[in-house]
Amino acid sequence: MTADRPIAVMGAMDSEIGLIIGRIDNKSTRRIGGWDFISGTIEEKPVTAVRCFIGMANSAAATALLIENYNPQCVIIQGTCGGHNPLLHRGDIIIGERVIENCRRETSPLGEGEGSRFESSRPIKAQIPCGNTCERASEIFCDSALMEKAKTVPYSKGRLITGCISCGDVFNRERDVLKYLHSVRGSDCEEMEGFAVGQVCKAFGVPFIDIRVLSNSELYPEEEFDESYASQCQEFCLDFIEKL
Ligand code: SAH
Repeated sequence: MTADRPIAVMGAMDSEIGLIIGRIDNKSTRRIGGWDFISGTIEEKPVTAVRCFIGMANSAAATALLIENYNPQCVIIQGTCGGHNPLLHRGDIIIGERVIENCRRETSPLGEGEGSRFESSRPIKAQIPCGNTCERASEIFCDSALMEKAKTVPYSKGRLITGCISCGDVFNRERDVLKYLHSVRGSDCEEMEGFAVGQVCKAFGVPFIDIRVLSNSELYPEEEFDESYASQCQEFCLDFIEKL
């Protein structure tokens, strides 16, 4: 019975999860480690929400705690992101089809004074422990049923696309790196949690989806980071949760 199992929803910053937490009825909060897990209902549906804090380690730890303690039917990570695809602007929403990682890489052997070249490095696949085997993956696919449902949620504040979300413990602002991630690795945008959440969900066999709103695009100087766009993503995710 998945109906009794909560929908887990995560966001890294207060601005990215506060609105959703505010909509939870019959709230109860449990602190585990440094994370507060808030359980209750949204439109009668059981939900557990957590502010996971920024970055891969925080989001991986919060995901494992969620899964072990709440047995969620699925995990939604959502929040802001920065644009890689020149067609995207602030306010556009990307429903993750897949997430890739942009930090784990082996660089080419360059000598002293030769500088650093992101584009010539080779991605290292992540290890995903799956019982007796260890899968290796450089991309993790979001659950296709969740993705199809998310595509049916109306959104009027910008474009709504499905695409590739890139992730790492880095906020990239170098144009050549952004261009490489978009043109070579197919990335539409970047953030700092999705791959880590997806990796842990895959290890536990829990369906997951990453949904992001563009809050900045280095490709357009006037589109600087503005976390207030996070509320648009949360409103979209609330509508999505109603459909689950
Ligand atoms: N002023 C904040 C910046 C946080 S931005 C600070 O210094 O702490 C990083 C957060 O927003 C991450 O949780 C990430 O998921 C998201 N994010 C938005 N735009 C991003 C970008 N261009 N690159 C990386 N992460 C981005």
